[in-house]
Amino acid sequence: MRHANVPIFVPHIGCPHACSFCNQRSISGVQAAPDAAEVLATCRRAAGMLGERVSGAQIAFFGGSFTAIDRAYMLELLTAAREAMQAYGFAGVRVSTRPDCIDPEILELLAGFGVQAIELGVQSLDDRVLAANRRGHSASDVRRAARFIREAGFELGMQMMVGLYQDNREGVLRTARGIADMQPQTVRIYPIVVIKGTQLAALYERGLYTPPTMDEAVALGADLLAFFEGRSVRVIRLGLHASETLEADRVAGIYHPAFRELCEGERYRRVLDGLLAAHPPGGVTLLVPPGHASKVTGQGRCNLLPYEKRGFRLKVCADASVPPFSVRVV
Ligand code: SF4
Repeated sequence: MRHANVPIFVPHIGCPHACSFCNQRSISGVQAAPDAAEVLATCRRAAGMLGERVSGAQIAFFGGSFTAIDRAYMLELLTAAREAMQAYGFAGVRVSTRPDCIDPEILELLAGFGVQAIELGVQSLDDRVLAANRRGHSASDVRRAARFIREAGFELGMQMMVGLYQDNREGVLRTARGIADMQPQTVRIYPIVVIKGTQLAALYERGLYTPPTMDEAVALGADLLAFFEGRSVRVIRLGLHASETLEADRVAGIYHPAFRELCEGERYRRVLDGLLAAHPPGGVTLLVPPGHASKVTGQGRCNLLPYEKRGFRLKVCADASVPPFSVRVV
């Protein structure tokens, strides 16, 4: 049964930091902090929509630093989530938080409320990049938190960013390798979006920071997908969720509502280049995994057009024997 999350966004509340890229109100698209009644109402609606799938679904507190929020408020949210689990049969809870806000005491508390998965906002494993982006924690905080989480038996998730101030392609790939070495079950990858009112926006406006181009970010996104797949780490998100507030507050950076699709299309473009670059033009059938035809053709057929211009007549057909991100030429 497919996994489902019931996302509940807990904005900036309680976070004493001001990371270079963060304006949680824009990122989560939500202004107000939810209370217990809202958590229960959201879960009731979600349970109605999920039907049988509710038993595989998690109540997910995202958007802020969950374990850093006021303790009484955190307990209010967790108590409401536990009530919803008992009433509707949700599998458990997942939360996202900062690496320096994890210790054995908080983990014991979370376990008591049915928390199953903890996602750490890692962003980078380079202390210089972390400091430049005012993260307020170090790479060793990440490693320590990851160890605590794994030892306590939670599912470990990690979130990283592409395009941070003073980071580059090599730095991002190093962070990905470091993350994979910590063996998280899941990863979320967020390409940078420069949002009004942030330190990054100020640096950008003064010409001191340039985010990666869309092409650079898509190429790196494709590399990261392939890398984590090779290390058996599931990439459960690539790109920020679409949000009207985010779109309104965006100054620059990488935002596309189908960013992952672009990166997957780039993976297929590379596969096609490998297959067709030396292939004589003419009629060619491309056998692709079912459900992947649009990724293979790319947006606006961008993956096929260069070959069609060279005289190829390409036909894309689904074939269940072709593994993901492979193509067979007939
Ligand atoms: S720690 Fe999280 S919530 Fe706090 S400023 Fe940084 S990104 Fe925003």
